[in-house]
Amino acid sequence: MSKGTIKKVAGPLVIAEGMRDANMFDVVRVSEQRLIGEIIEIHGDQASIQVYEETSGLGPGEPVESTGVPMSVELGPGLISNIYDGIQRPLEAIMAKIGNSLARGVEVPSLDREKKWHFVPVLKAGDSVSAGDIIGTVQETDVVTQKIMVPFGIVGELKSIAEGDYTVTEAVAVVKTADGDDREVTLMQKWPVRRGRPYKQKLSPDRPLVTGQRVIDTLFPIAKGGVAAVPGPFGSGKTVVQHQLAKWAEADIVVYIGCGERGNEMTDVLNEFPELKDPKTGRSLMERTVLIANTSDMPVAAREASIYTGITIAEYFRDMGFSVALMADSTSRWAEALREMSGRLEEMPGEEGYPAYLGSRLAQFYERAGRVVTLGSDGREGSLSVIGAVSPPGGDISEPVSQATLRIVKVFWSLDAQLAYQRHFPAINWLTSYSLYVDTMAKWFNTSVHEDWMALRQRIMGLLQDESELDEIVKLVGMDALSAPDRLKLEAARSIREDFLHQDAFHEVDTFTSLEKQYKMMQLVLAFYDSAVEGLRSGVSVDSLVKMAVRERIGRFKYIPGEQIGAEYEEIIKALSNEIAELAKQKEEF
Ligand code: ADP
Repeated sequence: MSKGTIKKVAGPLVIAEGMRDANMFDVVRVSEQRLIGEIIEIHGDQASIQVYEETSGLGPGEPVESTGVPMSVELGPGLISNIYDGIQRPLEAIMAKIGNSLARGVEVPSLDREKKWHFVPVLKAGDSVSAGDIIGTVQETDVVTQKIMVPFGIVGELKSIAEGDYTVTEAVAVVKTADGDDREVTLMQKWPVRRGRPYKQKLSPDRPLVTGQRVIDTLFPIAKGGVAAVPGPFGSGKTVVQHQLAKWAEADIVVYIGCGERGNEMTDVLNEFPELKDPKTGRSLMERTVLIANTSDMPVAAREASIYTGITIAEYFRDMGFSVALMADSTSRWAEALREMSGRLEEMPGEEGYPAYLGSRLAQFYERAGRVVTLGSDGREGSLSVIGAVSPPGGDISEPVSQATLRIVKVFWSLDAQLAYQRHFPAINWLTSYSLYVDTMAKWFNTSVHEDWMALRQRIMGLLQDESELDEIVKLVGMDALSAPDRLKLEAARSIREDFLHQDAFHEVDTFTSLEKQYKMMQLVLAFYDSAVEGLRSGVSVDSLVKMAVRERIGRFKYIPGEQIGAEYEEIIKALSNEIAELAKQKEEF
């Protein structure tokens, strides 16, 4: 353990000397107040320390002590439902201890040391085990059963294991290793946050993380274990999108990292999230959520820690075989923290003052996403999908953080202030968004939902693109100049937008759409278009096709509950062909 003294304090950066024996990324305690910091640079015996607490009042000569261990998180029962700050201090426990504002240097363990958890073994003495093997379970909340895994680095034979009530630090099992050592396994393990947790194999992103949000699943799907970015101009519905994903995405566990700017932004999250109901269980969404929140009294440097803390916790649940969704809001704030620290370290600045390593830092973070075969002999699969929000100043994504992010992520949901203004929600712009997973997931959609899923999707996208081109023409020469087939195209596109893409997050039925229903909806919209094109050929006028009564019913299909969609679909198709036949007949009678 290395002890030094403060040489200089510059905001969240403390330079200490006498730190020759310390290591990069070691956690240090700074000054008599024992503030928590992390070594981010070492030159000779001088260490640059990023301090995660307010440094005002600190001065040269005060002691600095390295703990000799890298910044780590505690993993085990007690994580779920918890709200942590960036360095995994449980906010509620702290408030209970010292009141509303965070006193500096307080030490509260991340996982409750007194609470007992009921451990149920799934293996028995004599079984051989290695890292990642599940030895038993703990029912953590009504919704989440934690799998207790053999920690990394342990291989051997279970010498003892017993059902019972344990705190997180009591041994639930003992493993006899090959060298004859006894290693205790506790409910809690630790992991250094800057190192990705190991797995056996990364799998290809060939299946979607179904979200029940039509514009996402159909047009811009994210893969299980995929990475997506969403920019959020103010009022464009970013919060609603995130809440919808947290509620409905096929994820067992949600990890939400809030790197808010202002204190109250974060308080919103702290108030809103626990209010959300989990539609699958009817209980609070918090029963499968871990929240990481930077409170306003923490310096910006803590945002950096919160990103790593969050993703490490998420990986831990992935390792149990869960599907985990992590949301980071917003990565731009984290990048700003990197910029500030880089400036103080007097590094050579890159674009707009961001450090040259901005891109590689972001990449390292997103790379920790993935669908993997975990450690452990049962060959289980887990996934960690990451959705990062970016908040470009003025909504202009040509700035460095957005650009660096776009080079990494495979999905971009382009939230559009203009669409939000027109009350088209979710305001995801279908012309500027993209998903690079579409091709790798095509086979899954075609075999798991319907063989012509991709073909329908392609036609929908095509009509939307045609619409944007036709819109340009209409702007120049007016609607009257359009041919009848082109007018029908515009009508079909309008139907796609209004009847399909538009989705009301607050409507009981519309809030979630199964893939089966999304498929039927695509079919209906296209069935109208195809029948109308036929009608036009047999001489029916555009005006009467546009005004067909059945269109109203197609528009209301999204509100039809699951068990009725089959019957309603058949009826609409019948009504559609009757109405077209009727129009054609009238035409002949003239
Ligand atoms: P932001 O977080 O981007 O500032 P919000 O997510 O709070 O914006 O959305 C602003 C408002 O837009 C919401 O209060 C809501 O009325 C409306 N809205 C956003 N998304 C939807 C949606 N999918 N369905 C219905 N209304 C929505």
